[in-house]
Amino acid sequence: MTDCIFCKIANNKMKSNTIYEDEKVKVFLDLNPSTNGHMLIIPKKHYQDIKDIDSEIILHSIALIKVTLFPLLKEKLHCDGLTISQNNEYGQEIKHFHIHVIPRYTNDDNVHTYNKEILLPIDDVYSKLTNK
Ligand code: 5GP
Ligand code: ZN
Repeated sequence: MTDCIFCKIANNKMKSNTIYEDEKVKVFLDLNPSTNGHMLIIPKKHYQDIKDIDSEIILHSIALIKVTLFPLLKEKLHCDGLTISQNNEYGQEIKHFHIHVIPRYTNDDNVHTYNKEILLPIDDVYSKLTNK
């Protein structure tokens, strides 16, 4: 898509700190990182989100994290853990599918905060999801 910034990054029309790329995906540093080494994996082809993406790209990306990116982050940045996340619709700023690869460090305080006020009892949620 012509006005998509991640398409521009994928097609080298816009600069990025690229860590890895192959024929299917590109991995680069997030410009506004949650922690040191926060990366994004994007497919080179434009997909909006989990609804339209080819599942093979997700499998490819998870294998890439397991085999290459997590070991790299451990070796070079000495991270203590790894969080993987991916936003769809609400919470998704850039409408080109991407996976966040967020190295974790002891005491990094990178915790998700949610509004506990709107939480339902777990049994109610279970009922809604299963009709039981
Ligand atoms: P989302 O909220 O869509 O899941 O995450 C989008 C991410 O893309 C954000 O973490 C944001 O910092 C990052 N981002 C937005 N624009 C750019 C950009 O032009 N270059 C890079 N490297 N990251 C970007
Ligand atoms: Zn795009």
